[in-house]
Amino acid sequence: MNRRTFLEGVAAAAALPILGRQAPAANEWGSPVFDLHFHMRPQPPATLAHLDGAGVTKANLLTRAGSLEQVKATMGAAPDRFTWFASYDVSKPDAEQVLTQAVKDGAQGFGELKFHVAADGPELRRMYALAADLRVPLLIHFQEVDHFPNEGTWATGYAKTFAAVLKAHPKTTFIGHADAFWANVSADYRNEASYPSGPIARGGVTDTWLGEFPNLFADMSANSGNNALSRDPGFTPDFLKRHQDKLLFGSDCGCADGHGAGVSQGNNPAASRLAGKCVARETLTVLKKAAPPEVFQKLVWGNAHKLLKIPA
Ligand SMILES: [Zn+2]
Ligand SMILES: [Zn+2]
Repeated sequence: MNRRTFLEGVAAAAALPILGRQAPAANEWGSPVFDLHFHMRPQPPATLAHLDGAGVTKANLLTRAGSLEQVKATMGAAPDRFTWFASYDVSKPDAEQVLTQAVKDGAQGFGELKFHVAADGPELRRMYALAADLRVPLLIHFQEVDHFPNEGTWATGYAKTFAAVLKAHPKTTFIGHADAFWANVSADYRNEASYPSGPIARGGVTDTWLGEFPNLFADMSANSGNNALSRDPGFTPDFLKRHQDKLLFGSDCGCADGHGAGVSQGNNPAASRLAGKCVARETLTVLKKAAPPEVFQKLVWGNAHKLLKIPA
């Protein structure tokens, strides 16, 4: 080896990724995967164990305001694999101030916003206006049926009131999630169950609004998203095709290893169909089966990058 070749070799070696700190190159899903809905674990290794175990390339960390040090530690453990959203009690008087600071600190959205208020109430309306001002999306948990006695409901009134919200806040980017959002892909939903089963009555408000409103996107995470895409196999392929630019893969999975160890859906009895399973793996499997490769790639990777305005 002459001196020049040797020096080129040294330079190339220096440019090599440090093992374990970079996203895996090969991917079992046939596309890199971005998990939009991942609740940050207290310790970075536990967060990385889920990503690596489930074959997830990058994740959006859902965090609570006040956990900036933890966010920094997680991002430092694996540069280029994370973005993050911040959440804070929207009924507190300093909510706007705290969430504005989070965006200044690098948060790329609000979420998840899961609070016992009305979807069109003053607490959330303030956040819709603020998100538009700051040009960040917000992710909302809609739920009308308790999972546990006296749990209460979250961002209520979705089916009846949210079209008016979408119209009134055209500059706000909304990402819908959870039970009521997904149960309402079916036109016959009347808040009778967390996760309805069986055939979907075409023309549900979620399906309609995704088509009508450019500012509405959908987070397919959790049992709610998985159930909606699994309950009527005749519905799913066309739905994915129809809204291929609006749907975003997320897991909301609490399992330990990306293979279903530990608890995946918070011991929610209504979500027992996913007990012992990794929600990320289950939903990626459903999507891969129901969508052609170019659509699958948008759902699990491209759309999230576009929405968050980050390079893919
Ligand atoms: Zn949620
Ligand atoms: Zn999992």
